[in-house]
Amino acid sequence: MLIVASDVHRAHHAREPFLDAGRLMDPPEVPERVDRILDAIATSARGAPQPPRPFGSKPITRVHTAEYLEFLEHAHARWRATTGREESSEAVAYARAIRHQPYVRPEHIVTQLGWYSHDTDPILAGTYDAAIGAVDVTLTAWEAVADGRERVAYALARPPGHHAAADSFAGYCYLNNAAIAAQAWTDRGARVAIVDVDYHHGNGTQQIFYDRDDVLFVSLHADPAFEYPFFLGFADEEGRGPAVGRNRNYPLPAGTEWQAYAPALADALGVVDDFAPDAVVVSLGVDTALEDADTFRLVADDYPRLGAALAGLDRPTLVVQEGGYCLDVIGRNVVGVLSAFT
Ligand SMILES: [Zn+2]
Repeated sequence: MLIVASDVHRAHHAREPFLDAGRLMDPPEVPERVDRILDAIATSARGAPQPPRPFGSKPITRVHTAEYLEFLEHAHARWRATTGREESSEAVAYARAIRHQPYVRPEHIVTQLGWYSHDTDPILAGTYDAAIGAVDVTLTAWEAVADGRERVAYALARPPGHHAAADSFAGYCYLNNAAIAAQAWTDRGARVAIVDVDYHHGNGTQQIFYDRDDVLFVSLHADPAFEYPFFLGFADEEGRGPAVGRNRNYPLPAGTEWQAYAPALADALGVVDDFAPDAVVVSLGVDTALEDADTFRLVADDYPRLGAALAGLDRPTLVVQEGGYCLDVIGRNVVGVLSAFT
C-alpha cells in the first residue's frame, strides 16, 4: 500500500487554549499525531512513506472558492499588519454576521476571520503552507490509485479536512483534503463514495457535495444533538434536489461500542454498494477510540474490523487521515485499519 506523508504540516501548531463547554482546552491537533502514526507504520513494516508532489491551486478551487483560498493565504500577514501582533500570534475570529442581513464583503481582517470560519479555530503564520501540504499529500496518494498504480493508498494528511466547507474553516480543518480528492476523481468521470468514520460529522464534506448526485457521502458519527459540529449531521439530511439520497448520516449515541457501531457500519456500506461507486474515499478519524477524549468506545481489535469492512467494498480506495487525538493509541488504531487492506 502506498503511504504518503510530509513534514510541511509542522508549520501549523496551534497552542492557545480554547473554551470547550466552559473549560479551557489545549488544542489536541498537534504535529506529534503524525509522528505517532509514522512510528506505528514503521514498526509494522508497512513500507517507507513517500513524499508528495505539488499539485497547485487548481484542484483546490474545484471545491473551495478562489476568494476563500486567497483569504487563507494572506490572512495571517494581514492580521499582523493590522493588529501589530507578532509572527507567533494566532489570528482568531471575534464577531460574526447576523443571519439574513445584507452582507458586504468587509475589508477588515478581523471581520473576515469571522466570515470565513464557523467556530473559534485560529489561523497561524504557517497554516496556509501546512494546509496546502496536506492537499498535496492527499492528491499524491489519490493520483496513484486513480492512475491504477495502486489499489489502495493512505494519505497522512495534517491538518485534517472534513470540517472545512467551500468557503470556511473550523474543527482544525482549513482545506477539505478528502473532498478535493473526491472532486479530482469525479473530474476524471468517476462516481465516488465518501465514507466518513471520524467521531465527528464531516459537515464540511456534506456541505460541499449536498447538491451533487455523482458523489455519495455517508457518515457515522456522534449525534450532533450533543456533539460537535452540532448544526449538521442529523439523519434527515439526505441531499438536495437531484442529490436526494446521496447524503446518509448515521448519528450514534454517546458511549457507542463496536456492538452498536457494526450494524450501522454494515448499513452504511450497503448504501455505498448500492450506489456502485467507481472509487471510494475514506475519511479516517480514529477519535472513536475508548482512550480518546470523546465518548465512543472502540477498542484496539475493532480497528482491523473497521478496516476489513471498508476493504470489503473492494473498490479503488483512498484513505485520508482526519481526527484522532490520543497520542498513545492513534498510531496503533490507524495501522489496525490499514492492516486490513493488505
Ligand atoms: Zn473528529
